[in-house]
Amino acid sequence: MGAAVKVAQRMRVPFYDVKAQYDELAQEMESTVLDVMRSGGYVLGKHNKAFEAEFAALHQTKHAIAVHSGTDALRIIMDAAGVGPGDEVITTPFTFVASVETIVQTGATPVFVDIDPRTFNIDVEKVRAAITPRTKAILPVHLFGQLVDVKPLMELACERELIILEDAAQAIESTHEGKPAGNFSVAAGFSFYVTKNLGAAGDGGMIVTNYDDIAERCRSIRIHGMGRERYYYDHLGYTARLDEIQAAVLRVKLPKLPEWTARRAEFAAIYFEELEGLDLQLPYTLPGNNHTYHQFNILSDRRDALQAFLKEREIDSMIYYPVPIHHHSPYLKFAPEGSEDRVNGPLAITERVSNEILALPIHPHLNKDQIRHVCASIKEFAQSTVGA
Ligand SMILES: *Cc1c(COP(=O)(O)O)cnc(C)c1O
Repeated sequence: MGAAVKVAQRMRVPFYDVKAQYDELAQEMESTVLDVMRSGGYVLGKHNKAFEAEFAALHQTKHAIAVHSGTDALRIIMDAAGVGPGDEVITTPFTFVASVETIVQTGATPVFVDIDPRTFNIDVEKVRAAITPRTKAILPVHLFGQLVDVKPLMELACERELIILEDAAQAIESTHEGKPAGNFSVAAGFSFYVTKNLGAAGDGGMIVTNYDDIAERCRSIRIHGMGRERYYYDHLGYTARLDEIQAAVLRVKLPKLPEWTARRAEFAAIYFEELEGLDLQLPYTLPGNNHTYHQFNILSDRRDALQAFLKEREIDSMIYYPVPIHHHSPYLKFAPEGSEDRVNGPLAITERVSNEILALPIHPHLNKDQIRHVCASIKEFAQSTVGA
């Protein structure tokens, strides 16, 4: 009995398990990869084509274009939409760097707007005040598995004749009123980086769009801007194809995704039930949205002490994101006026959230006992005065 209790206390809770998706599907995965190797169809082969069709069906869009990474997806949709030097693109500083890096690479200027303190997504009301005559596009990031407040954002874009480009890297299967990411804009980019809800055995990405002309341009830019005829070029492009082996791997995993997403929701429900009433902010889902819990984030004003406390109990947690983009050297010049004031400045909410946010383990290959163990440990911490 005593030994059993000890074991329970020492239960290890890893934040990610990138091999678990493979383990669950090992046989199918190995045979499909071998099949590609033996077929010689290595470049934009049958798995690329089929995966695009399957992804377009999942996201209810007319087109899907497979690319090498989520970052390439963002780069290419910006090029295809004509974002370039002299343009401003409004986005959030509370994101993974790729959202901003790709804007800068087009020659456009990123304009940072603060986030909603409940959802951590860009605050649509504040977007309005950031629009100038040079604004070309708004790039919302659907962070952690929940869409931005899409309706007011679309109304604003329509009123001011701006385009929306979605960073949906963390929002596969995320919807508003049943409509998935990719249906609220000119185009959206998704990522299959290994730790995303659907992860390749390496890199992968996808563009979706409902516009024929954008789709055609993206397809061309993906292969050096080549037109219908080989070695004739219509656009400046890249080598940004999705590797055929990755397409094959992703096709094996895709049918499992709904089950894996449902498991994330089950774990989230346990967190909500167990952690309610503690001095923590729990995730908030906007009316009409679903949440696919790419991450389950809490806010605590004793965040660093809580993370250390969990670490001692072999519970991993992560900080997304510890330092907002405008504080990193390549992006300092884009920091808005007054943002040195981290308490009352224009990005004050981003600053506070960066200091208080903590992602708890939620990947689908954990079990409920592990999630309950995380909860029990957080409750124990809450009753202590560590870090107070
Ligand atoms: C992962 C991610 C990307 C980039 O995707 P890669 O496939 O790693 O290039 C872009 N934006 C956000 C918000 C992401 O989380």
